[in-house]
Amino acid sequence: MNQLISDTQQKTNTSLDYDSHPGRDELVPSRYALRIGQIDVLVVSDGVLTLPGAMLAHNAEPAVREAWLADNFLPPDAFDWALNAVVVKSGGRTILVDAGMGEEFPLPRAGQLPHRLEAAGIDLSSVTDVVLTHMHMDHVGGLLIDCVKEQLRPDLRIHLAAAEVKFWESPDFSRVSMPEGFPDALRRTAKRFMEEYRSKFRPFEDECEVAPGVRVCRTGGHTPGHSVVRLASGGERLTFAGDLVFTVGFEHPDWYNGFEHDPEEAARVRIRLLRELAANRELLVSTHMPFPSVGHVAVAGDAFRFVPVPWDY
Ligand SMILES: [Zn+2]
Repeated sequence: MNQLISDTQQKTNTSLDYDSHPGRDELVPSRYALRIGQIDVLVVSDGVLTLPGAMLAHNAEPAVREAWLADNFLPPDAFDWALNAVVVKSGGRTILVDAGMGEEFPLPRAGQLPHRLEAAGIDLSSVTDVVLTHMHMDHVGGLLIDCVKEQLRPDLRIHLAAAEVKFWESPDFSRVSMPEGFPDALRRTAKRFMEEYRSKFRPFEDECEVAPGVRVCRTGGHTPGHSVVRLASGGERLTFAGDLVFTVGFEHPDWYNGFEHDPEEAARVRIRLLRELAANRELLVSTHMPFPSVGHVAVAGDAFRFVPVPWDY
């Protein structure tokens, strides 16, 4: 897998003298703050992960998929997946939603969350709760970094769906379409994560309220316990959709992503969520859409359209 990634990996251009001053001197912004009523929201980038273009849609004709990439001025054989995590503050609690890739693999552009949280003034010891959309390594890997573990509070609560914990005890990879090496890496990372953090798990069945106006709701689909975070305060709403929605998912909501363990269900859940967000006009943020991925969803014919919000300086 490392070979595969290094084949498509490009050098970062996001930092000035990155090696000696990680985080502080980056030329490209890695955090974006907004408020939803009384709730503070900070989108923080963990970097990007380059994967083969086929991961975007293993049920699409290659020529159709390549045409989509060409229409978007992207190369035919590789796609950069953004890695967005979110920090939410509400009711005196500081909640980290997903934790990025960590150091599971030597990827120069991913795994940047710890120094970017620090640069944003977020002290890991101030984090009271972690919410996990699911247990893929690009969402939990950051918590396995030694310097991160050392800083976390002993009374940290980790909220995730009970179905997700159950799934990873004996995960089914029969419906995925991943590059060689990925299933083993995902199994290994989830197993290690459960061994190291199980005592902090606060599993829920369908949903739980983590803090005032902050609900985590199980959707299933991508993984059986995949969950989204729904924020509501002062008449405003935002949903962090995790891996339910990808960049291609607006024009092609029925394209099967290679990392979906139940692709048909993932497509159904995606379409249901996009319809709901378009109808109630709430904001969307998602893990793998280009940073900061804050925008609205519109209906476009029998598919959808993503409308990014103008940056608010
Ligand atoms: Zn992911």
